[in-house]
Amino acid sequence: MNIKQEVDKRKTFAIISHPDAGKTTMTERLLMFGQLIREAGTVKGKKSGKFATSDWMEIEKQRGISVTSSVMNFPYKDYKVNILDTPGHEDFSEDTYRTLTAVDSVVMIIDATKGIEAQTIKLFKVCKMRGIPIFTFINKLDREGRDPLSLLEQIEEVLEIETYPMNWPAGMGKRFLGIFDRYHDQFIKFNGQEEETYLPLEELRQGSNEALTNHPTYQETEEELMLLNEAGDDFNFDKVLRGEQTPVFFGSALAPFGVESFFDTFIEMAPNPKARRTTEGLISPDNETFSGFIFKIQANMNPQHRDRVAFLRVCSGKFERGMTVTLPRTGKTIKLNQTQEFVASSRGTVDEAYPGDIIGIYDPGVYRIGDTLLEGKASFQYDELPQFPPELFKRVTAKNVMKSKQFKKGIEQLVQEGAIQLFTTYPMENYIIGAVGELQYQVFEHRMKYEYNVDVVLESIGERIPRWLTNDKVDSSLFDERNMLVKDREGQFLVLFKNQFALNWFKDKHDDIELIDLFEVN
Ligand code: GDP
Repeated sequence: MNIKQEVDKRKTFAIISHPDAGKTTMTERLLMFGQLIREAGTVKGKKSGKFATSDWMEIEKQRGISVTSSVMNFPYKDYKVNILDTPGHEDFSEDTYRTLTAVDSVVMIIDATKGIEAQTIKLFKVCKMRGIPIFTFINKLDREGRDPLSLLEQIEEVLEIETYPMNWPAGMGKRFLGIFDRYHDQFIKFNGQEEETYLPLEELRQGSNEALTNHPTYQETEEELMLLNEAGDDFNFDKVLRGEQTPVFFGSALAPFGVESFFDTFIEMAPNPKARRTTEGLISPDNETFSGFIFKIQANMNPQHRDRVAFLRVCSGKFERGMTVTLPRTGKTIKLNQTQEFVASSRGTVDEAYPGDIIGIYDPGVYRIGDTLLEGKASFQYDELPQFPPELFKRVTAKNVMKSKQFKKGIEQLVQEGAIQLFTTYPMENYIIGAVGELQYQVFEHRMKYEYNVDVVLESIGERIPRWLTNDKVDSSLFDERNMLVKDREGQFLVLFKNQFALNWFKDKHDDIELIDLFEVN
């Protein structure tokens, strides 16, 4: 099979949402379409749709590493689907952001009863910065949610992206009748749990189901839809691919309702792997040379098993187990025979992989996040992964001052690996470490103890708003504990502002000082 045919089949995406919006429920539904769950027999009661997560955890415990749920792949129709998990809750970390560099599109789930929430905004910004196409699923229509129009308005205002409703709900909660599928000109009727009927609109207009078409909710919605057709934006697929318009689907992951029609449309529209930027220009996925980059390194929390897994996104060519690759950063060659492919409930060994696929490679401690691996004589490197602004900051010291050498070595290596970010206060050079989520500190503390034999003391300085300064000459008397002046690893100055108020106050007072927000989307 040639590479291009394989590339055309690949759909690699992540689901982003705020905790509790329904990401897990949706993922489970999609795995069922891929038959993964039923085959693996891990569903406990289909109705509740819950995995037997404990079984997974047991496997993970035995193997000593928790990776099985990070990447799921399965065939669906003619496609090969790769879903990358974006951990939330207490597992939210920089890895969550970095995962978004390895996907070709994103599904954003919004809870209809709550609208847009904080974590969705953060993840959305990363997608927007990178121009990733975003498909929206507004979930929990089986409950009385917010008015659909106001939900769309909120998406447009808060996220600054055009919306195009692919379907439109007739009622919600108890009054929920179904959805008008604008894209396929049909009405999908809700018949309660796990049942939906597809009715072509043309037949309905000819009177095929008057009980439905005479229903007041149906008629009201039909009128709304006419207004929407006149006043709303047109569907523009080019804009979708540029990340400027998001197709919006309404439904319920739990019922489930509208999930299959959403997924069928999404899987057709979602882009397959595209050319990516490297130091030697764009590299197309059907380029014969195997190449990819590492976007995540998962350390083992079990002291008995020091092994780590590096997650590599294949970007071009064909991967074959046992192949020898080059790591251009060091010029070294490595034979890749311990590779694992991630399937939802088991970790098998992968023999071949194509652009869009994610493989896990055993890492004896040689890789860094952002590393390119490639085949043969080529020496290009994929664009560096962007830096994501940390939000939580802690002062870090070694409990035992006698261990300062190991302490420095450990920090240096963990920072290089991308596990945490390091800053030094100025002019006194104390260490401050920054992270996106609390989990990163737990991993840091644990690894310092077990890999470098150093107990660290972490002292929180709270959530901070980092703003980079453009000037390399800075008047340090303008700053204090509240607005802390620090340097990053490249020696760039930045200020860790105590809160939004402190930031605004500083801006007003010093409007000549330029402050850079790494997350700003233009
Ligand atoms: P996650 O935190 O985003 O992964 O959210 P979950 O998938 O775990 O869902 C959070 C809660 O919302 C669970 O109790 C789900 O059963 C519930 N839920 C998910 N989808 C729906 C839906 O379509 N309707 C209703 N009523 N509840 C849902």
